[in-house]
Amino acid sequence: MQIIKTVQEMQAFSLEQRAGGRTIALVPTMGYLHDGHISLLREGRKHADVLVMSLFVNPMQFGPQEDLAKYPRDFARDSRLAEDAGTDVIFYPDAEQMYPGPFKTSVQVSELSAVLCGKTRPGHFRGVATVVAKLFNIVVPHRAIFGEKDFQQLMILRQMVRDLNIPVEIIGMPIVREQDGLAMSSRNMYLSPDERRRSLSLSAGLFRALDSFRKGEVKSKELIKIVHDGILPAGLREDYIDVIDEASLKPLDEAADNARIVAAVYAGSVRLIDNMALKKN
Ligand code: AMP
Repeated sequence: MQIIKTVQEMQAFSLEQRAGGRTIALVPTMGYLHDGHISLLREGRKHADVLVMSLFVNPMQFGPQEDLAKYPRDFARDSRLAEDAGTDVIFYPDAEQMYPGPFKTSVQVSELSAVLCGKTRPGHFRGVATVVAKLFNIVVPHRAIFGEKDFQQLMILRQMVRDLNIPVEIIGMPIVREQDGLAMSSRNMYLSPDERRRSLSLSAGLFRALDSFRKGEVKSKELIKIVHDGILPAGLREDYIDVIDEASLKPLDEAADNARIVAAVYAGSVRLIDNMALKKN
């Protein structure tokens, strides 16, 4: 496995691979890998000759009050895990490589970026779309793999490649969960043991809402209430709980085809997100 730290080398490497007729898959990450990331890498491995994982904690997607400085990092462990999952190259730039000098351009996917997490995290999705557009130009992949854990992000990036005619196929992968149901996240390490226990009420509530949907409940208000009534006694604070249309991310009064229940809550100061497709089976 190679570790490439400069934009110039990464681009040269990728263009050479493409000239040799090899396909490239990219898995963008911020590191501190868990099994969710590994599932993306394994999927990427199936889809291309060359598997590139980028590891970059992108300052542009963090708000001024957010956890950029203390975001967990462990490059030695990440490179071992990435290599075991079949990664050929880790693209590991620093902020100076990605944002040298004055930076004046950004990618803004309107409407989709303004709702749900975009309300509490203004500027976040602009940072995400911009860095992913940059990574696409640097790594020049044929395909890129993202997790449904960040469902809004996935839909924003799909819209971005459509709107800007970026020739990258976006592949979405299901959420990988801990045995007890909590969606895996690098940020789970911030949870105290007590918060970790209480956090479980989020996925448990979503599973109950899904179960209720499968038994015939379609009213969003009722489905949302099920999640709400689960997190409240556990002392989690709601940012949002919504039933949305997957394509538009707009709230639905009733769960129809392509509905998804999405939620963001706080356990202490830790923000947790999770979601589930409302499908009959
Ligand atoms: P991050 O390192 O948190 O920026 O995440 C990198 C990629 O991994 C994104 O596409 C995430 O959606 C995906 N991801 C994070 N957690 C999970 C999970 N529990 N299951 C599946 N994919 C995930």
